[in-house]
Amino acid sequence: MTLSLSASPAKADEKADLEHINNIRKLSDTDNTEALKQLEFLKQKQFAKSTPKVRLEALKVIVSLYYDAGRIQSALDSIAELKTLAGSEHDQDGVAIARIMESYALIDDGKPDDAIKNLLQIRSSLHASASAEVRMRLHSAFGSAYYITGNFAASLQHFLEALRLTDELTTRKIENRMYKLDAIAKLYSVMKDPEKALVTIDEAFSLSPLSRSPKTAASLNISQGIALSALHRNKEAAEAYKRALKLANEAGLVAMAVTSLINISDYYLIMNQYRQAENYARQALKEAETLKDKQSITIARVNLGFALAGQGKISQGVELINDVVKYFLDSDQKPDAEAILSEQAAMYERAGMYKEALQTVRQQQELSNELFRSDRAKAVAALQEQFHSEQKQKQIELLAKENDLKDADIRNHRLQQIVTLLGAIVTVLVVAFLFLLYRRVKRINLQLREANSQLEFHAIRDPLTGLYNRRSFLDMMKARMAQTEAERRDVQEHNPDCLILLDIDYFKQINDGLGHAVGDAVLMEVAHRLRKVVRDTDMVLRWGGEEFLVFSPKSSPPQSAGLVERLLQAVGAEPIVAGDKEIQVTVTAGFIALPFSDVPESAFGWEKVLQIADMALYLGKANGRNRAYGISRLLVPPEFALPVLETDISTAIANGMVELIEVSGPPRLDLSFAKTPEPH
Ligand code: GH3
Ligand code: MG
Ligand code: MG
Repeated sequence: MTLSLSASPAKADEKADLEHINNIRKLSDTDNTEALKQLEFLKQKQFAKSTPKVRLEALKVIVSLYYDAGRIQSALDSIAELKTLAGSEHDQDGVAIARIMESYALIDDGKPDDAIKNLLQIRSSLHASASAEVRMRLHSAFGSAYYITGNFAASLQHFLEALRLTDELTTRKIENRMYKLDAIAKLYSVMKDPEKALVTIDEAFSLSPLSRSPKTAASLNISQGIALSALHRNKEAAEAYKRALKLANEAGLVAMAVTSLINISDYYLIMNQYRQAENYARQALKEAETLKDKQSITIARVNLGFALAGQGKISQGVELINDVVKYFLDSDQKPDAEAILSEQAAMYERAGMYKEALQTVRQQQELSNELFRSDRAKAVAALQEQFHSEQKQKQIELLAKENDLKDADIRNHRLQQIVTLLGAIVTVLVVAFLFLLYRRVKRINLQLREANSQLEFHAIRDPLTGLYNRRSFLDMMKARMAQTEAERRDVQEHNPDCLILLDIDYFKQINDGLGHAVGDAVLMEVAHRLRKVVRDTDMVLRWGGEEFLVFSPKSSPPQSAGLVERLLQAVGAEPIVAGDKEIQVTVTAGFIALPFSDVPESAFGWEKVLQIADMALYLGKANGRNRAYGISRLLVPPEFALPVLETDISTAIANGMVELIEVSGPPRLDLSFAKTPEPH
């Protein structure tokens, strides 16, 4: 009865106790110190009365709180207690968890290989119905052990499996997921993929702000700092570490605070601020030694070594560093050893100790080769290969892009060349075309000018003889009429101009007897002969058929008579050769002055003057041809003389109204083609 009676309150107590433990664990997220105080109190005062299940749960939680508080020995004692209790209670999960915790202790003790052996044993003896929590813890422990030894592929595989198992948890699902992501992020950083680490951390941070405790936040900040540092974003890294330190200090997470201090000292080492680095390293070392945290002591010592070496205390620093390298190598923590050797080589180089630097670099490279090329790390190599191939792919893409750009550049260049060439060709063609056009235009212009001058020539010249034609004389007279009398006089000075009208004698006979062509030839020759004897200023025109007009400016009547005589002689003195014939061609002329006998032209114009000349010419024809008659002046006032003269020249002469000049032509020649003088 008592049993049954006592069983019921015990069960009620168990539930309350488990609830209480869970609350303490929640409290530990923000205040590890207070949580530990409460849990230790529970353990001392109530453990005897509690059920095994409560005690087992309390022990599991207290181990983790001891670790976070940096109380490693207490944690180890509690693990042992948990293992014993679980064994006596036949709680297989409890035993497994205790053994997993022992494996962590081995890792912390610098015995990761032993830890792995241990974990493999746990796995092989694991019960089929093992809880998700146990399996998750196992994979996490594997992940940590492989991480420490540099088996990154195995580590990643286990962490990912642990991450997957968080889904199956009944409590603290999100917190656990955050821790797994945090671990994976640290792994990515050490695998030289800090970008991926940052993405993973962001993922963890974004999981649930409500579930983000100072503990998880501090841890994630440290991971972030490591990734940022790998990206040479040192200032941001330092800020992340300092955030972690603040969070850790506030929540009583001593171990986390030590880790933060170590990382801050690392930052100052990178920045070559060795005094600061030394300060933080010494602070971290002091705390780690108090906690007897071997792992932290080691790393703090190596940082101190580098800080001292950086300040010129080389031998002192090197001693510390070498110790640590030896420790890491002995404990198969190759990634850490390799990292330190790499830093040590740089340190030697800075100190000008090149021999030592070279030696250290060789050692580091050997280790690096071992890490990434040993059989154990084949998977890592594959993983690295994958990363590399991704990188390569990226590089190839970039190169391809660059090549595309270059191609485009070349294409552009070629296009430019083609455009330039085409431009040049077009320019040449245009210039050539313009030149041809210019030449053509010039030629056309020339032709036009020629045509125009020909037109002009033909307009003013007689096409047969080349003499000025009647029209040109009319034009000249038109211009003359536009002038005032004074202008005409001014030009004329003392002498008037002279008009001589000539007509070939018996021309019809030449045409009829020798043909029209000979007639033409005679016309041309007569024209030639007339032109030969006139002054340059005189003008010879073809007045009509076989009539010519000579306009001789500023010519006195005696001068004019002389000119007329020369004209008659020129035409008739020498025979004209036409084919096989020689013919004597004579002309009859009438001549007169313009203005005539000082009568203003406005009163007695050129037409009337010319009419008188024509009448004088016919007088010559009538009087036997081959002669000329000139009317030199009026002998009576014009008002009396002119009306008579205009109508009947013979009467005017007979009445003594005008002065008459007679010029004889050349003597008759004895030629084969003789013209019969016939009265008109
Ligand atoms: P006259 O001595 O009285 O002047 O006698 P003529 O034969 O010269 O008579 P007329 O002046 O009447 O004759 C002119 C002739 O000239 C008539 C015409 O056939 C001819 N003639 C006119 N123009 C040309 C021409 O360009 N070429 C030729 N071959 N003959 C022409
Ligand atoms: Mg005639
Ligand atoms: Mg005639």
